[in-house]
Amino acid sequence: MLRTALLHMSESPGLARFVLHHGPSRRVAMRFVAGEGLDQAVSAARALNHAGRMVSLDYLGENVADEAGARRAAGIYMAIFDRIAAEKLDANVSLKLTQLGLDLDEALCQGLLEEIVARAAGHGNFVRIDMEGSAYTRRTIDFCKRMRAKSPAVGTVLQSYLYRTEQDAKDLIRIGCRIRLCKGAYKEPPSVAFPKKADVDANYIKVMQILLPSGIYHGIATHDPRMIGATKEFAAKNNISRDQFEFQMLYGIRTDLQEQLVREGYRLRVYVPFGQDWFPYFMRRLAERPANLTFFLRNLFRGNQSHAA
Ligand SMILES: Cc1cc2nc3c(=O)[nH]c(=O)nc-3n(C[C@H](O)[C@H](O)[C@H](O)COP(=O)(O)OP(=O)(O)OC[C@H]3O[C@@H](n4cnc5c(N)ncnc54)[C@H](O)[C@@H]3O)c2cc1C
Repeated sequence: MLRTALLHMSESPGLARFVLHHGPSRRVAMRFVAGEGLDQAVSAARALNHAGRMVSLDYLGENVADEAGARRAAGIYMAIFDRIAAEKLDANVSLKLTQLGLDLDEALCQGLLEEIVARAAGHGNFVRIDMEGSAYTRRTIDFCKRMRAKSPAVGTVLQSYLYRTEQDAKDLIRIGCRIRLCKGAYKEPPSVAFPKKADVDANYIKVMQILLPSGIYHGIATHDPRMIGATKEFAAKNNISRDQFEFQMLYGIRTDLQEQLVREGYRLRVYVPFGQDWFPYFMRRLAERPANLTFFLRNLFRGNQSHAA
């Protein structure tokens, strides 16, 4: 219930305005976000690369309100690819289609995505299309399939909480598409998603076992030691070497586990979000773990005390 309430709140513009301008909230959010500018994200990426971890840079933003917002986001993604190349970072990019105007005009979104994928391909790099709520799943997969027909420099994400994911994985593998597998971070009804965590986890393992033997380089995105253990075991039993897939984790989460995987010789990519529009991303991270909410509320209280003093 708490998760549902927090995910519901993540869509509130009023709460977003309050939290974004509230110092203590910002401090807590910066545990999960590399900063508000590209320079900060680049510094974080460089430090992670030095620690043996690859990076995916995400310029925060979703559901842009107008064409200018979509074009601005696309321009920033172009600049990110140029900067990655100039700084010789081991990093790719993750983006959301609603950030490129999917809600406004599909042709606009398609055109901007094509430009970004072309820029990525020009640098020998890669674009990962994040998966948003289920209202966007079919269109995101369709966009990815169309783009994949033109360039291998694009892939997408599948969420194990959705019933449709097993079939989507098989379809996308057939066209050679690279997939990031995650559990799913949005509020979804039982008509489309497994309501029970045990079923989401079981489906994660089932889909992971479809992805890994495909011969395509996929990303196994989770902080769950059980999912990680199942992946290592399946790969070892099936002679899938450690350079044929990568684990992925979020910036600021389970850094101990990140270090351990790198020490063990696994490939690990960290998703590094940055930008000013961090509210919905932050709320999804709070919804994933009650301890994060307690930490947030404690800081809120401390912040109010110092404000009053
Ligand atoms: C690289 C990456 C990219 C992602 N991209 C997408 C996407 O495109 N679309 C999408 O819907 N979702 C995405 N997600 C989020 C994902 O769907 C889950 O919501 C999130 O990863 C939590 O699930 P879990 O697999 O870690 O397992 P869980 O069972 O939720 O958590 C397992 C353990 O991980 C730790 N943990 C998990 N979350 C947190 C947290 N927020 N704070 C602190 N500890 C935590 C805790 O120790 C917890 O016990 C992504 C996740 C990763 C790692």
